[in-house]
Amino acid sequence: MKAIRVHEFGPPDVMKYEEVDVLHAGEGQVLVKISAAGVNPVEAYIRSGTYARKPALPYTPGADGAGIVAEVGPGMTSFKAGDRVYTSGSLSGTYAEMAICAERHVHRLPKNVSFQQGAALGVPYGTAYRALFQRAHAIAGETVLIHGATGGVGLAAVQLSLAAGLFVIATGGSGRGRSLLSAECVENVLDHTVPGYLDTIRSITKDRGVDIVLEMLANVNLSKDLEMLGKNGRVVVIGSRGTVEIDPRNLMARDAQVLGMTLFNADDSDLRAIHAGLAAGLSNSTLKPVIGKEFLLEDASKAHSTIMDRGAYGKIVLVPS
Ligand code: NAP
Repeated sequence: MKAIRVHEFGPPDVMKYEEVDVLHAGEGQVLVKISAAGVNPVEAYIRSGTYARKPALPYTPGADGAGIVAEVGPGMTSFKAGDRVYTSGSLSGTYAEMAICAERHVHRLPKNVSFQQGAALGVPYGTAYRALFQRAHAIAGETVLIHGATGGVGLAAVQLSLAAGLFVIATGGSGRGRSLLSAECVENVLDHTVPGYLDTIRSITKDRGVDIVLEMLANVNLSKDLEMLGKNGRVVVIGSRGTVEIDPRNLMARDAQVLGMTLFNADDSDLRAIHAGLAAGLSNSTLKPVIGKEFLLEDASKAHSTIMDRGAYGKIVLVPS
């Protein structure tokens, strides 16, 4: 079988498309024939060697994927060969034709959801769900600013928020991305590259401020996010690529909180809740992942370059040829 292999950390072209040994499912494991694999920024950070978590070399990247169960480990009754599934973690890596996954990282994929859409679920929707409901404890009627809403996590957060009765303000850096947000029925779409756009948020909320900010680039925005908050407001830091200075008085004045998160910290019971929530949204079609770009598996390096570019538009996936 074919897989992407990383033998050394470095730029995108350290990812090589190679022939590797055929895999088999062990106890508690599921072997999935991958029809599409999701590409997430964290996989680019890990590949570059700059991320805190480093796998042993060589390795195959990827946690998210979707496809058909090819084989299950001895005694497993929850899945069988032929089941349509998506994955939210993999022991062998999903940038491959086949991937071994622990049973808890395999979830049923409804027929109304394509494999490409299934590959967009694990990290992006899992993160958005955790940020909104397990970290910020969002409730219907609250206002959420999704600061960076055009990419995988942001669009997931938009759909989850609208389905849960939140009032959504969303930002994007490109006209194309902002049109996508309007097409997703977000009424208040702003451009985070335009000076003064945060003043518009003040006027949208009639100076009350937002209840929640989901922040994709905290090193750029966190200081201003605190000024956007209303009383008891919460910022969930989802993404950050550097350091930032804040004025703690903006927190004190509002009894506000800054909440960090990484999906890696979600335990089994958190993950069960997340994927039950996603299953409900997929089956009633309130959750519909948007696939912006598809690359062939062998072009994984191009996908990694693209995911770090500006102008996000939904999810990037890899498909085996
Ligand atoms: P993505 O698909 O590449 O999207 C990146 C998003 O960031 C786009 O919406 C982009 O908007 C936005 N952005 C760029 N510049 C911005 C700015 N100045 N202000 C606000 N937003 C800005 O990536 P993703 O998968 O959605 O992930 C988003 C971030 O969350 C990444 O940093 C990722 O590493 C992180 N993340 C964290 C976790 C966790 O567990 N904490 C999990 C998943 C992802 P435009 O391109 O339209 O400008």
